[in-house]
Amino acid sequence: MTDELILVVEDEEDIQELVEYTLLRAGYRVDVTDRGEEALELMRENAPALMVLDLMLPGLGGLEVCRRVKRDERLSGLPVIILTARGEEEDIIAGFAAGADDYITKPFSPQVLAARVAAMLRRTADTRPNGEGVLEYDELRIHPGRFEVRVAGAPVALTHTEFRILQYLASRPGWVFSRMQIVRAVHGEDYPVTGRSIDVQVASLRKKLGEASRLIATVRGVGYKFGD
Ligand code: CA
Repeated sequence: MTDELILVVEDEEDIQELVEYTLLRAGYRVDVTDRGEEALELMRENAPALMVLDLMLPGLGGLEVCRRVKRDERLSGLPVIILTARGEEEDIIAGFAAGADDYITKPFSPQVLAARVAAMLRRTADTRPNGEGVLEYDELRIHPGRFEVRVAGAPVALTHTEFRILQYLASRPGWVFSRMQIVRAVHGEDYPVTGRSIDVQVASLRKKLGEASRLIATVRGVGYKFGD
């Protein structure tokens, strides 16, 4: 069972390719980017099981990416393995201070990389935000890694936004989320959308969920919550 998604953030092409190749060979799925900003988007969209993060990146640096992940309550459980240059002890210390879970120094052996990733996934199986990647509630099953929703076993075709709204609400059953919280979680801080459009999305989502639509409750004057 190794089809978990690993997010690789590395701007040096050779190393990026080596890491990607190594992880694909080990049976993982891999998302790759050379930009910290894009890494943050990818992890919200695709819910990876682990991130391999280079520290020296153009634009938003690796340390800052790591800090943002660890400060975000929905992402903080994501294990982060940083890549540092050999002998850069300060980088390793700064990485741990930023919340990194492990490190690998460059140059590294592919076998060691694969072993470190596997060990980290084992160690964090219960605490990762996605664990197996699946959220289950009664007859509803959400698989973020596969971008898949099933109701009583039958697949439901959702738009990207509907999927993310559902995933967000279902991540904390019983919690009430305001429309603006949902807007921010689903589209990021800068998306020019009003709370009203969330109502439209939720209406469409409920329709598609059929019997499971009861799991999304309207909280008058506030927003929405997930659960009976
Ligand atoms: Ca770099």
